[in-house]
Amino acid sequence: MREKRCAAVVLAGGQGKRMGTAVAKQYLLLQGKPVLYYSLAAFEQSELIDDIILVTGKGQISYCKEEIVEKYGFRKVRAIVEGGAERYHSVFNGLAEAEQAEADYIFIHDGARPFVDEEILERVFRETVEYRACVAGMPVKDTIKIADEDGFIRETPNRSLVWQIQTPQAFASDLILPAYRMLIEKEEEYLEQGVQITDDACVVETVLGYRVKLAEGSYKNIKITTPEDLQTAEIFAAENVAIIQPCV
Ligand code: C5P
Repeated sequence: MREKRCAAVVLAGGQGKRMGTAVAKQYLLLQGKPVLYYSLAAFEQSELIDDIILVTGKGQISYCKEEIVEKYGFRKVRAIVEGGAERYHSVFNGLAEAEQAEADYIFIHDGARPFVDEEILERVFRETVEYRACVAGMPVKDTIKIADEDGFIRETPNRSLVWQIQTPQAFASDLILPAYRMLIEKEEEYLEQGVQITDDACVVETVLGYRVKLAEGSYKNIKITTPEDLQTAEIFAAENVAIIQPCV
């Protein structure tokens, strides 16, 4: 028996401008179901997760409630809240609800990553219990170059140490909650320093100087960002249809 409670904050508060569609990318259809359906289904069916908090864009709460949560019967969704201007604002709003749910561990996941699965959740959870902060990622396949402002190569990092970072990112709640609180409190200061907060690991690294563990996600755990990603996702979703139990 697992004694600790786990909540998942699933983010769907972005506008997905890089997709170039009128509908935000998390609501586009893959094999007839919204992109967001797939990650919610993974958390709903996970033995690790007790509660799901869904973070939507402005004015999308009733759409998500009726057309996704109720339609597909996601029973673990205990709250649907509006996100904010930046991803980290959306996470902050979701975390407040996860605190209400008395979660010991909180998984934060991009709703635009439909192919998270139970194996990834287990790997991330195991390391989170041990290290209190763990993010999914994969070693990069390409050589990565760091550019300077003029578009010339400045540096070539050792490829064997470079990972592309994914979600879920999971944390002990008594680590992530104070870290986000401090981020929001000192937001102006961090922005002035030019700190970029593009994921949750950044928050505990920057605010607390905490060391975050990496765990293998998967090369299929893509984030749908541009139209090409949607084509790849259609292929993965078609393969998964046979595997994913319908949540109805
Ligand atoms: O924009 P990006 O691709 O990094 O977004 C990652 C995830 O964060 C997406 O699922 C998106 O819906 C979510 N997001 C959000 N609130 C924002 C921006 C992004 O919930 N303000």
